[in-house]
Amino acid sequence: MAEETKMDKIVSLAKRRGFIYQGSEIYGGLAGTWDYGPLGVALKNNIKNLWWKMFVTDREDMYGLDAALLMNAKVWEASGHVEGFSDPLVECEKCHRRFRDDAIINEVTEAVKEEFQNGRRCPFCLGKLTEPRQFNMMFKTTVGAVEDSSSVSYLRPETAQGIFVNFKNVVDSFHPKLPFGIGQIGKAFRNEITPRDFVFRVREFEQMEVEYFINGKEWEEHFEKWRQMMLAWVEAIGLDKDSVHELEVPDGERAHYSKRTIDFEFDFPFGRKELYGLAYRTDYDLSQHQKHSGQKLEYLDEASGERFLPHVIEPSLGVDRTVLAILSSAYQEDEMNGEKRAYLKFNSNIAPVRAAIFPLLKNKPELVAKAREIYGELKKSIPNLMFDDNGNIGKRYRRQDEIGTPHCVTIDFDTLGEKPELKDTVTLRDRDTGEQKRVKIEELNSLLNK
Ligand code: ATP
Repeated sequence: MAEETKMDKIVSLAKRRGFIYQGSEIYGGLAGTWDYGPLGVALKNNIKNLWWKMFVTDREDMYGLDAALLMNAKVWEASGHVEGFSDPLVECEKCHRRFRDDAIINEVTEAVKEEFQNGRRCPFCLGKLTEPRQFNMMFKTTVGAVEDSSSVSYLRPETAQGIFVNFKNVVDSFHPKLPFGIGQIGKAFRNEITPRDFVFRVREFEQMEVEYFINGKEWEEHFEKWRQMMLAWVEAIGLDKDSVHELEVPDGERAHYSKRTIDFEFDFPFGRKELYGLAYRTDYDLSQHQKHSGQKLEYLDEASGERFLPHVIEPSLGVDRTVLAILSSAYQEDEMNGEKRAYLKFNSNIAPVRAAIFPLLKNKPELVAKAREIYGELKKSIPNLMFDDNGNIGKRYRRQDEIGTPHCVTIDFDTLGEKPELKDTVTLRDRDTGEQKRVKIEELNSLLNK
């Protein structure tokens, strides 16, 4: 049997331990969808909360927004998505599989690897391919009881447009001075031709986006500040710095609205791929919405009396790709006490469980009661604690290592005063080194909050 790849190990750990399940699994799944289990939700929420704090609430120049997923179809006409949000689709005339023409090389199977020489043949069966046709990736739906062309709507393929159409509302409510930004976290939907690589390319995902409105003359300076901010983010979530690469997207390859784009790429187990994007979108979106809606979207600079359309810098981050990058970065294997172990080396600010609290033995009521008491007390200030008394202590450590819990706290007979000098102390175990030290119960809160 071929050696299990790192990716296989991550996918299987994610399922076994309740991070990520296949979408609609008991019905055979639905391609391009994944469901986040209890620990996956906790990890995602920690990522989103940290992003919201760093990109929105910690800053005086940022405003938050939560726009509707369904928007008037005219939004997507104005933004260019109805006309141009498409990928070239080809179909194999023999096996009828469909592929993205420009990414067909990624699909080549082992069986035909040697024979496959160019993208004009099916990467599964080497059958003849049709000519490419443009396939729009927006999910179309209808709104209301009558289905006609006026009821057409789309599930949003990006969160950004919800921000642009609310630009004027935020200006009218808060009168912010330029530069200022609006941040939003929310779902986006793309009918990807070939969803692949676990949660890397999916049909339903979440984005964390900022549209930062500036005077167009100052775009370079703001672009650089947001570039630095993205690097600070990558560090804050504990991604391995050497695995993140900035790619200056050359002329001709950028989206039509962008004058400069940097892709932040990450060394995923399946290769170096885009994790995030940073784009200078000029005043393209506001000017399109001004034109199509007939509403004035200009900003009045009170100091100079000048009216103009602000330009925009957009840091765009995918939540699901963040989860996958963190899982890939954190996944480690080593040997501890003569046994192989796999563990997730999460930063404690994003770990789904900050610490696990155990009674040494499950069947000693006095140990369980003390452990429960400590757990209850700590939980007041550290909500993501876990109480665990299943199986023996070795098994519990292994389970907590596998889900990336930075610390385990064990309550034993010494805690209760069997050795009087150790009364009211517990053992605190470190996930990465396996080292245990005795600490006072009263110190736990600050140690775990570090
Ligand atoms: P790609 O070239 O990989 O399709 P993109 O350039 O189309 O990505 P953007 O439109 O810039 O992506 O979207 C911004 C961010 O949203 C991406 O950097 C990524 O983190 C996330 N993202 C985009 N498409 C998907 C998807 N299908 N599944 C998961 N995340 C996605």
